[in-house]
Amino acid sequence: DATEISSKDIDQLARTSFPLCIRHMLEKLRENHHLKHGGRMQFGLFLKGAGLKLEDALTFWRSEFSQKVGSERFDKEYAYTIRHNYGKEGKRTDYTSYSCQKIISATPGVGDHHGCPYRHFGEENLRAALNNMGVGGNALEGILDKVKNRHYQLACTMTFEATHGVSCDTGINHPNQYFSESQKVLQ
Ligand code: SF4
Repeated sequence: DATEISSKDIDQLARTSFPLCIRHMLEKLRENHHLKHGGRMQFGLFLKGAGLKLEDALTFWRSEFSQKVGSERFDKEYAYTIRHNYGKEGKRTDYTSYSCQKIISATPGVGDHHGCPYRHFGEENLRAALNNMGVGGNALEGILDKVKNRHYQLACTMTFEATHGVSCDTGINHPNQYFSESQKVLQ
């Protein structure tokens, strides 16, 4: 995928094209200026997959974390993992972003914000989050019904359809696929 995104476009892209799991982590990062390891991995690799280059990724994470821990501690304790995700440290493996299946089977603990909201949120939180995305009425009830039957990816697909006004025949199976399908519709 040859697309490239810039750190200054992230909030705008989140509103139009990021799936709920990623929107949630961005919101928490902006709010707390921090994300625990699971979130940094899921979100960081998503951004990399969406075309955020390493230098821009460091700028993005530093701008938030430095507000909480200071930039010195950011550079010492957190920058390594980001470079690592880009294959610039350690075994130099070029890591790829997580699929929905992997995300859904995660077990986020207290204070974690990774995972799949359709799977890991309670009903009230999920309702509020979907309302926030402009999803209500029958569409919302249909999505919650899929969630009750543990069809999380279908629920996400229906959210995509409700927010983009198109049908998504392939179904959602990866957050980066959600993003690229969205960009296709919007461009
Ligand atoms: Fe994210 Fe996949 Fe869950 Fe959608 S179904 S919120 S893309 S993990």
